[in-house]
Amino acid sequence: MTAPATGPAAPAEPAADSDRDLVLRAEDIHVEYDGERPTRAVRGVSFELRRGEVLGIAGESGCGKSTLAYAVTRMLKAPARMTRGSLGFRGRDGQEVDLLTLDDEGLRTFRWSSLSMVFQSAMNALNPVTSIGRQFDDIFRAHRPEMERGERDKRTRALLEMVGIDADRVHGYPHELSGGMRQRVVIAMALALEPDIVIMDEPTTALDVVVQREILDEVERLREELGFSVIFITHDLGLLLEISDRLAVMYAGEVIEYAPAEQLATAAAHPYTQGLLRSFPDLTGERRELRGIPGSPPDLRNDLVGCAFVDRCEHAFAPCRTETPRLLELGREIGPWTAACHLNDPAHRPPDQPGQDEGTPSAEGRQP
Ligand code: SF4
Repeated sequence: MTAPATGPAAPAEPAADSDRDLVLRAEDIHVEYDGERPTRAVRGVSFELRRGEVLGIAGESGCGKSTLAYAVTRMLKAPARMTRGSLGFRGRDGQEVDLLTLDDEGLRTFRWSSLSMVFQSAMNALNPVTSIGRQFDDIFRAHRPEMERGERDKRTRALLEMVGIDADRVHGYPHELSGGMRQRVVIAMALALEPDIVIMDEPTTALDVVVQREILDEVERLREELGFSVIFITHDLGLLLEISDRLAVMYAGEVIEYAPAEQLATAAAHPYTQGLLRSFPDLTGERRELRGIPGSPPDLRNDLVGCAFVDRCEHAFAPCRTETPRLLELGREIGPWTAACHLNDPAHRPPDQPGQDEGTPSAEGRQP
């Protein structure tokens, strides 16, 4: 993929041999919310997902993370609409599917069977007046009509046990379960048809840290056992660094840095990523001062000129107000690493100035 003349481009082309592992390729996704002045919530996002990997999508509220997830699952509803982009999926059988060509029936089959979602609020995902067992049964009857009743029951019980819930809860109702148990049920439902991809959108945000840790450990164990890929969406960059193989950091509807987790943890290149890293405590490293990122994201109803982060960036210099930074490849030692910042662009890098050297990342990256 080549970088477009303006705006962040797609991540660097993967090596040919790793292409075989590709499960999902999203290219140049644009989503707008219609209105008197449309809100361009996702602006040219591209990413790749490989079999069995966890791709973390990070960023503040309103940066477009969840809208992107809805676009990928083709679950956008008016006034949101995808205005540009392509979505290619490759199943375990090697069959390639252009997700944008699927009709309603094709989408119905695709969801649950190939891709499922776990949302933040388990209570919203579960039907409060239907027993847990019946809700699993509905999935099997809709997608696996050949399964006999006994087989469906056996599978439901096995799925509940797989996520650490007593199989006899099959007769219970959602309100009889704790928040953590409900979220485990939702995860079991998402895995019921053994999908290739599970999208998790803030799945543990509403839970206390102990339950959150238990559920994340459970997801990790299941992923290793079943081999599905995960797109994990959260504002919690610390959590993503821990659980992800690679991360896409989003700001104002764009991916502004895309890198292996290890790379971001030690040498993030984009000032926004560095700001996010400074805003949460490192529980294992040295004590450090926490600093939030001052200001707020731009209004995405406006035409944005230059870098969308310019009003909040302590390193901004002249071209940042007039030219949109491109996603440039910064390295491949651990895996493809790209960032969209003029400080990393030889065509724009500012001359050394007193006080600037220390804050100027290079193409080799720097400590946040
Ligand atoms: Fe944007 Fe310029 Fe700051 Fe880079 S230095 S993040 S291009 S404002």
